[in-house]
Amino acid sequence: MWEQQLLATTQEATQEDQTALHELLQDTQTMYLVSDGGATDGHGYYGWVVATGTKIIWRGKGKVLGTPYLMESLRTESVGMLSLTLFLHHYCTFHDIDLTNENLFHYCDNSTVVKRMKWYRERDICSPNSHLTPDDDVQIQIEQTMAKLHTTFPTRWVKGHQTPKENEELPWEATLNIEADNLANEARDETANEPDNFFQYPASKAMLYIRGQPITRNIAREIRFAWTSQDLRQYMTEHFKWKATTADLIDWYSHGSTLKSYEYYQHLFCIKLIHERLPVLGEKFTASPNKLCPCCKRCEETTEHYMECLKNPYQPDELRDGLKPIFDKHEVDPILRLMINMATANQPINRDILEGVHPIIDFSPYYDLIQEQEEIGWNQLNLGRYGISWDRCQRRFLEHKHKKKITGEPKWIRNVIRETWAYQKARWIARNEELHGPSNNRASSAATKLAYLSRIQSLYKHEMDLLVQD
Ligand SMILES: [Zn+2]
Repeated sequence: MWEQQLLATTQEATQEDQTALHELLQDTQTMYLVSDGGATDGHGYYGWVVATGTKIIWRGKGKVLGTPYLMESLRTESVGMLSLTLFLHHYCTFHDIDLTNENLFHYCDNSTVVKRMKWYRERDICSPNSHLTPDDDVQIQIEQTMAKLHTTFPTRWVKGHQTPKENEELPWEATLNIEADNLANEARDETANEPDNFFQYPASKAMLYIRGQPITRNIAREIRFAWTSQDLRQYMTEHFKWKATTADLIDWYSHGSTLKSYEYYQHLFCIKLIHERLPVLGEKFTASPNKLCPCCKRCEETTEHYMECLKNPYQPDELRDGLKPIFDKHEVDPILRLMINMATANQPINRDILEGVHPIIDFSPYYDLIQEQEEIGWNQLNLGRYGISWDRCQRRFLEHKHKKKITGEPKWIRNVIRETWAYQKARWIARNEELHGPSNNRASSAATKLAYLSRIQSLYKHEMDLLVQD
């Protein structure tokens, strides 16, 4: 099965060349084996060509299997080479020939693959540690296949995707690299919706799986993460009073990839925010003698109060204005916009409220989403925890609008979360200035000024509706 997956889309160039490769493999003529691979948003693909010094005689392309978030170009380039090597092996077996041509050269634009293949040719023993390197499962399968072929053709580096200068021709291997790249791109488009049934290569004797997903690189980090994420899950389930299964409803990919994209200080703030550990005065972990909210000075500043305090100079309008261009850019379903705006402004929200306020809108296609987010908590949208139904609804909306299949990761949710957390950060800075006075840090007092400025501007807009005492 794993071999079929790697050989399914190999193609001979023309009918007349039936015997060409057969003869070439036992000849002394120089042959070019060129492979390439790519990864986009966790989807891997490869392409390769077998050529003489003047023409391409075989082509191959396909999908690279593996865990999406661990899919990187090293894996896809290696699988491209594996598919090519495997093809040669089966070709020789089928035609019952020995690969005796010593002028075979493999070209690849990935320097790690080149280094690893060089090391393979030169080493005499292989230590266990080398098997912990990224995508080693593919590497050892390549080595085993080459051993079966009784060959060790060298791998050489070729600069990828070159464009020829004027009046200059590209070297043949660079032209072939472009062809392999084109094949890989075809495979990207053709296999986007193919199922990802992972096959463990037989040469790869041990493979770590976490929750059913093969861990093909960063083994120590993935083990560490799997341990801590279990603890975190339990902590959140207790802290947010979730059901045991509520955590499974959340789009953790959007949540995690937003977090990952931050630099250290911004990351630190977001971690405190999403775990409700901002040092507000009324929480036990802060131990402040004065527990009053610095913005309204009316009640204790608990996390819950802080998130909703109406006297914070930075108001939900700011977020609504910030989200609008993001919604427009990603053509977000107006009903989803409505719910996000309500929830992030801390307005109460459920099926009855929505249908009461908007009697014309049919909310029934959103009942699942509403129920799901109710279980997670609507206030969790401020903390970047969206249910998995959000993107499903958005896709359905876009598919209906554009009459075509929509694929790819939910970038819109990530951008909405980023904007929400930027708003939360500005709110925290504004609150700190209420507490300590404007800070020396010019960037932060600028934030408050900006907040006041936009409020003053919006007051001017409503000049005619205002009373003198306002
Ligand atoms: Zn307050």
